[in-house]
Amino acid sequence: MTANLLDFDLEGLAAFCERLGHKRFRAVQLFRWIHQKGVARFWDMTDLARDLRARLAEVAEVRALPVLAEQVSADGTIKWLFDVGDGNAVESVFIPEDDRGTLCVSSQAGCAVGCRFCSTGHQGFSRNLTTGEIVAQLWHAEHALRRRLATSERVISNVVMMGMGEPLQNYAALAPALRVMLDDHGYGLSRRRVTVSTSGVVPMMERLAQDCPVALAVSLHAPDDALRDELVPLNRKYPLAELLDACLRYLPAAPRDFITFEYCMLDGVNDTPAHAERLIALLRGHRGRGVPCKVNLIPFNPFPQSGLRRSPREAVKAFADRLNAAGIVTTIRKTRGDDIDAACGQLAGEVRDRTRAAQRLARRRVVPLRVERGRSPAPEVAS
Ligand code: SF4
Repeated sequence: MTANLLDFDLEGLAAFCERLGHKRFRAVQLFRWIHQKGVARFWDMTDLARDLRARLAEVAEVRALPVLAEQVSADGTIKWLFDVGDGNAVESVFIPEDDRGTLCVSSQAGCAVGCRFCSTGHQGFSRNLTTGEIVAQLWHAEHALRRRLATSERVISNVVMMGMGEPLQNYAALAPALRVMLDDHGYGLSRRRVTVSTSGVVPMMERLAQDCPVALAVSLHAPDDALRDELVPLNRKYPLAELLDACLRYLPAAPRDFITFEYCMLDGVNDTPAHAERLIALLRGHRGRGVPCKVNLIPFNPFPQSGLRRSPREAVKAFADRLNAAGIVTTIRKTRGDDIDAACGQLAGEVRDRTRAAQRLARRRVVPLRVERGRSPAPEVAS
């Protein structure tokens, strides 16, 4: 089978070149062509030896993900929907700001964690993405944006692994993808500008700290175990005390001296003054010294099956004010791309539902009808 070169970090690509009988250092040239210049055709990689180009054309490819849809918001936010086969699709979102361009990347088709407030979680889990499929989202976005803006300068300065899926439940594919993002011959992003967001897969937080300590965001969403058990079912396996201990252990390796806690504001569920007090007590009181952190409040993006409502603006502001007054730096996430609105994962879920419906219909056998005189024919469907 043809090798997908987007599956390899630089070390993996060097080993691949060696297996083809070429020097390992050729991988640096090849890696730069692919990731820095966005070139997929080996014959266009003009400083590579002809025999290597010929061999690569036989056994390898740079496998982009087919784009099913692209939506551009009036505020410049762009959402791509990528086809990952078998009726599954994943989303990536580019968010331009004055001083940065952030790409939100997916790590799984669906998600097994099943958070109550998350559209992706409601779809269930289909499969892990490969390293190549994670990297392909960045590869496409970066080079499509450069072409659009007619620039050879880097457009994406930050990556957040906050799209569909729990990245730390796909660690084997995630770690090489992070190395491609950080590599100076790849995208050259600093560790501070690559963020992995987790719902709290404690053992893999330790692995990440050892292997590739990028910035960490933790989806908290509740100030106590009883509520978090409901909202983030993974909490039943790794409760808050264990999760906060893992955050404290992560900090010495982290590129920033704080952990970001994400908190999705749900009307009447986790957004009252009493919840704010409990959250302060948790974050400042853990193990008697607290966890150095920032809190990011996220306005909930409603979707039909959730049965949840977005907190009123005043409640979000009051919550933020109370945390800030207690010395916990708290921000409210700006909503972006409202006119291409759809909760993260919703668009992909719609594709999946349509595809499943089409597959179900295709599996049915259409039996030709005997047309009775005077009656209009209609297909008869047998399961
Ligand atoms: S919030 Fe993240 S971890 Fe939770 S279900 Fe959604 S994608 Fe999975």
